[in-house]
Amino acid sequence: MREFGYRRAHDVPGAVALLDGDTDARFLGGGTNLIDLMKTGVERPARLVDVRELPLNRIESTQDGGLRIGATVTNSDLAAHPEVRRRYPALAQAVLAGASGQLRNMATVGGNLLQRTRCGYFTDVNSPCNKRDPGSGCPALTGEHHNHAVLGASGHCVATHPPTWAWP
Ligand SMILES: Cc1cc2nc3c(=O)[nH]c(=O)nc-3n(C[C@H](O)[C@H](O)[C@H](O)COP(=O)(O)OP(=O)(O)OC[C@H]3O[C@@H](n4cnc5c(N)ncnc54)[C@H](O)[C@@H]3O)c2cc1C
Ligand code: SF4
Repeated sequence: MREFGYRRAHDVPGAVALLDGDTDARFLGGGTNLIDLMKTGVERPARLVDVRELPLNRIESTQDGGLRIGATVTNSDLAAHPEVRRRYPALAQAVLAGASGQLRNMATVGGNLLQRTRCGYFTDVNSPCNKRDPGSGCPALTGEHHNHAVLGASGHCVATHPPTWAWP
């Protein structure tokens, strides 16, 4: 077990100040991706800054006809919101198609967008992977590449952006 620090932020400036540009620190949302990666050693942050209590849990209409979705809105609340269901049904359906009810209750919009790739080589610390260990190579180029990119990839990485709601 690696030791790490933990602080909870209560406002946005406080969260930014707690992170303090430290590349060994990470924001913590629902933890459904980050904590899993810490358990396997893919992520090894020295400090976590918990952002779940930031006042960013609202979904609001904007003047140009869009919706502004706060970073701490949970995936469950996003999928259930009447305006999301009415105006963006594909988004609501995509969120509901992802993970399980328990995970969607914990997962936040910010964390969902910033979750790391589910490429099996990335999550296996015994494999080379350019994204986890730059310069080590990309075994997915010639190996297991199910769900990886066909278009828009590079010779260094063929992983795709993972959130289901990025697919519609
Ligand atoms: C079994 C399982 C099945 C899953 N299936 C699906 C699926 O089908 N579709 C799908 O889309 N996802 C799926 N997921 C992924 C899941 O949706 C994500 O783990 C979740 O959305 C991440 O949100 P979180 O709040 O828990 O993020 P965390 O785990 O807390 O954080 C993830 C990353 O985002 C960063 N972060 C978090 N919040 C913020 C913020 N406010 N500002 C800046 N950075 C932030 C963290 O530093 C970290 O790098 C699955 C996960 C599991 C475990
Ligand atoms: S596609 Fe290659 S570089 Fe990208 S995450 Fe997977 S193994 Fe790593």
